[in-house]
Amino acid sequence: MKLLPVDSFLDSFGRAMRNGMDLSLYTGHPYECACGNTHTFELYTETLCHGFWRVVAVCPDDPDYLTHVKVRMFLMVKFLGFKGVQGTHISTDEERAYLNFIIEQLPWSSRY
Ligand SMILES: [Zn+2]
Repeated sequence: MKLLPVDSFLDSFGRAMRNGMDLSLYTGHPYECACGNTHTFELYTETLCHGFWRVVAVCPDDPDYLTHVKVRMFLMVKFLGFKGVQGTHISTDEERAYLNFIIEQLPWSSRY
């Protein structure tokens, strides 16, 4: 998987919200993680932000790895699986602070 600097990673994700997708329907399915492993998406999988059929998932083994995970749907009704699009690795305090700053600016979805 391609690893991007954290700013490019967030830019490429596009419009994001703090929450928004109900992923409970899709748990138990694997996704490719930026750390190089494949994880199973579970209810307790931490997500930093949500977009349109996409989330930023935090690696359960090493929270410095973040993955842009696309939810692949057929005609928006049939779930086809997850696809890890690209990732980033937080390696400095500055990057962590930048990430936290950006996430804190994001709006919460009013759907819940
Ligand atoms: Zn991982």
